[in-house]
This record gives sequence, structure tokens and C-alpha cells, in this order.
Amino acid sequence: MHPTRARGRRLVENLRRERNKETELIMRESWMSLPAWLLPATAAALCPLAVFLGGILGWTAGVASLALLAAPTCLAALTGRRGPAAVTAIIAVCSCVLETSALFGRPVAEPDWSFTAIAAGVLLGLSGAILGVVESLRRELDRLNRQTTDYLRDLYERVRDDAPHSAVELAVARNAPPDESLDYPMLLLSLQDVARRIASCLDLETLAPTIISTAKNLLKSSQCQMYLWNPDTRTLRNATPATVRRDGGWAYLPRTDRGVARWVLENRYVVTRKDIESDYALRGLLEEEPQPPDAVAPLTVGGEMLGLLVLHGAADDGPNFSRLLYILANISALALKNAQLFKRIEDMAHRDGLTGLFNRASFQESLCELVNTAQAADRPLAVVMSDVDHFKKFNDTWGHQAGDHVLRETARLWRAVAPEHAVLCRYGGEEFICLLPDDDLQRAGELAELLRRELEAFPLNFEGQELRVTASFGAAELGRATRTPDDLIRQADEALYRAKKAGRNRVCAASSPSAEPAPPTRPADAAAPPTTVPA
Ligand code: GH3
Ligand code: MG
Ligand code: MG
Repeated sequence: MHPTRARGRRLVENLRRERNKETELIMRESWMSLPAWLLPATAAALCPLAVFLGGILGWTAGVASLALLAAPTCLAALTGRRGPAAVTAIIAVCSCVLETSALFGRPVAEPDWSFTAIAAGVLLGLSGAILGVVESLRRELDRLNRQTTDYLRDLYERVRDDAPHSAVELAVARNAPPDESLDYPMLLLSLQDVARRIASCLDLETLAPTIISTAKNLLKSSQCQMYLWNPDTRTLRNATPATVRRDGGWAYLPRTDRGVARWVLENRYVVTRKDIESDYALRGLLEEEPQPPDAVAPLTVGGEMLGLLVLHGAADDGPNFSRLLYILANISALALKNAQLFKRIEDMAHRDGLTGLFNRASFQESLCELVNTAQAADRPLAVVMSDVDHFKKFNDTWGHQAGDHVLRETARLWRAVAPEHAVLCRYGGEEFICLLPDDDLQRAGELAELLRRELEAFPLNFEGQELRVTASFGAAELGRATRTPDDLIRQADEALYRAKKAGRNRVCAASSPSAEPAPPTRPADAAAPPTTVPA
């Protein structure tokens, strides 16, 4: 059976059951709810009195029984229960007969059986007539019940056929009666277009402007902002950088601790200014935020809060406005989640899991690109390679966990000292490499020296212990002798090898082997003292 039809049947059955229950309740509150045995028992109890009055005192035959038993007989028939009504009627007839028979013992005139027959006939007639009327009333009631049930079923099926079938129709019909002015085919087409445009965007940087411009067009609003929610810090961040924001002077800052944004973050519903002004429960928000935006919609996926979409300057904020905003927010949230997952997967493919720096494969790509760009533009390109000294020994002494900590901290130091345009990469186990576009060998040497000193002086706290490491550096620059990416890396590698050979914890430059190496912080390690020493 079609599920909707089955649901309809169930609904009608429930209604019928409800109605029967109601009738039962009314019956229970009336005299009809008397127990079935009570009326026959009353008749049986009154029978000796009728025999006494008629037979002993000599009343006209059948009159006492008729007077006393007419009431219980009628009441029994009125309950509509055939069994008790028949028993009561039979007792009443027997009472008439007994009453007349008792007259035989009296020295009175011959008892007249015709009176007895009339009394018994009246009692039987009353019982039968009342039962018949009640029966026909019940039949009529049943007919009406059936009619109502059919009417309800018909009504249900008609409502079901008129009900919205698609998700869009459902969303559109969520709050209000269908809007005659709405062009549904056009609406579906534009929503399909919106979904296609937003869902095909996997890049977080271009997604936010796409969502914003789509929201402005679809909802005819002059301003729109998208905020990303950080669940760890419980803060909101504007999804578009300030440089590309076009807010037309509108400076709205959603607060997480008060106002409409707070309410939407907590309740996860679309809220419009109209809702706030008309809904008694929301009006308090105006005290927290006297100038709310036209609408705020949550961007949620599967219960996860991703951000907010804030709209202002809407040309038409009628009922369709919040419905469309609701649909748009759902599509946007899905696209946002997709883009976030895509970025995570991309990061996992391009970055080293331990340090977060680029891995060797993506470094190789950047290197080729930067070498080409530098050669085409005749700009310098330098590279610095570093290697932690005696790292194997460090691992053996302090354990690999401590070794991992050193690698993470070294990467952090690299990030802190390297310029923003530098490309940082974990080249191998404890080897790091840094590409410096637009920087020459001298600048690369200076940077390496700065890092060497920082690392040497920097105590690495691990599980309550202060550990120290040093590193050796090799620097090289793209030039006449180094024309290919491989040449450049080889030169840096050779410089690093020389720094190791010269006693470690120093910087060597490739193209000028005579370049001044950094002064070793300890005497040349002829005896190879571990550069990893506990504080
Ligand atoms: P040198 O001063 O000549 O560079 O000596 P070294 O011991 O640092 O050089 P070597 O290449 O012999 O040892 C590198 C060590 O780095 C070996 C390996 O145990 C360690 N290593 C490589 N990758 C990791 C890592 O991801 N975590 C940890 N803890 N150790 C690593
Ligand atoms: Mg090494
Ligand atoms: Mg090493």
C-alpha cells in the first residue's frame, strides 16, 4: 500500500477510535452506563411486592405488576442492550402471571386473565417498542459515523494531493499559505542555478564572494556579509578579507554574546528584522541590539555550526524573503563544508603532518615555478637548507618523542624568522629548506645565521626538561653556475655538507666558499661533542 494512503487510513482509524471513546465517555456519565444486571435484578426484587399487592390485597389482576415493573422494563429497553431488556420483560410478564395466580387463593371473584394479558402485553410492547426505537437510532448514528469517516478520508486525500511534494515546495510552503504571485518554475530554475553556482566552488577564498553576490542578487539586498564560526575560540571571523569587502559603508559587527547573531548561533533559525519586531518572544533582542540587520541566517550542516549569513538593505522582506534565505543558507552551508573538507584533504596532500610545512613533492613544484619566474624576470632567488646536528644521537638519548618535539619547534622557529613570501618545506627527516624569492645570497646567509643563533639559544621544553639543539646551514643562489632547480639544491646541499665538515652549528654559502662562516659557538667538534645537551 502507498505509504501516504496507509497513513491516511491510520489517521481515519484513529479518528474513529477517538469518537468511540468520546461516546463511551458520554455513556459512562449517563444512566445508560448502569450495570447490565441491575435492571433485571430490580424487576425481580419488585416482583414479590407486585404479587403481594395484586394477589394478597386483591387488586385487579396485572395492575400492580404493570405499575411497579413498567419503569425497570422501559429503562432496560432504553439501554439498548437486548439481553437485559428481554430478561426484565420476561420477569415483568412472570410477575403479572404470579400476581394473578396468587388471586386464586383469595375468596374473591374469579380472576380475570384478560387484564393479566393486557398488562403483560403492555409491558412487552413497551420494551419491544423502546428497543426498536433505540436500535433504529443507533443505526442512524452508525450511518452518520460512516458518512463522517468517508468525508474525513476524502478530505485527507484531497489535502494530500494538494500538499507540496518537492523539498523546495516544502520549504516554500513552510510558513504561510501559497503565494499566488510566486512564479514557481522560475523560482526552481533560479534555485537550481544558485545551487550549481555555489556547489561547484571548492575554493574557500572564492566561495565566500560567490555566496555573497548570489545572496545579494537572489534576495535583492544591497549588503551581505558572511562570517565563519570557530567553535574552539567561539568567535566569528569575516569570510572575506577587508581588502575585497564591498559593504558600501555598512559596518555591522555580529556579537557572539548579545543581539541577533547570538540568538541565531544559539537557536539556529533564520531571523529577520520583521520577525524581531512582530514576535513577542524576539522583541527583547531590540534592547540588546537596537539596529539589527534585515536578516541573519545560520550556516549549519548536520547540526554543526559553520557560520552566519547577514543581510541588509533588502528591497522586499516579505514571506518569500525568509524562505529563500533559508534555502540559500542551506545550500551555502553544504558548499562551505565541502570546501573546508576539500582544503583539509589538499593540505594533507601538500603538507607534512608533523610540522605543517610543505612536503617535498609540493616544494619541488614551487621550486620549478620560482626558478622559471626568477629567470624570466631576471630576479634573484636564494635557498637555505638546514640540518639538525647529531640528531640521531639526540633521538637515542632523549627518545623519538623528544626528537619530534625538536622538529616541530624548529619548524616553528623557521616560520617565525622567515619572511612572508618564503616557501618553507620539510625536505627530509631533520632537514628543512627555505626558498627565498627576490632575495640574494647575502640575505639568505643573514637569515640562516639568525635562525642558527635563535636555535642555539632557544631552550626546547619537553616534559619538564630543557633541551638544546643546534643546526648547520647551507645557502645558495640562482646564478650563472646554477641554472636549474637541481643545480640550486645541489649547491645548497654542498654548502651544508661543508658546514657539517667544518664543525657543525654554522652557515656556509655555496657560490662563495670563502664566505665567512658563522663563528662556531663551541670549539670545532673534533671529538664530536653532542650539540644536543641537556640544559
Ligand atoms: P649530522 O649532525 O651529521 O646531521 O648527524 P645526524 O645524526 O643528525 O644525521 P643522520 O642523518 O645520521 O640522522 C638523522 C636522524 O634523524 C636519523 C633519524 O632517526 C632521525 N629522524 C628522521 N626523521 C625523524 C622524525 O620524523 N622524528 C624523529 N624523532 N627523528 C627522525
Ligand atoms: Mg640529515
Ligand atoms: Mg642531522
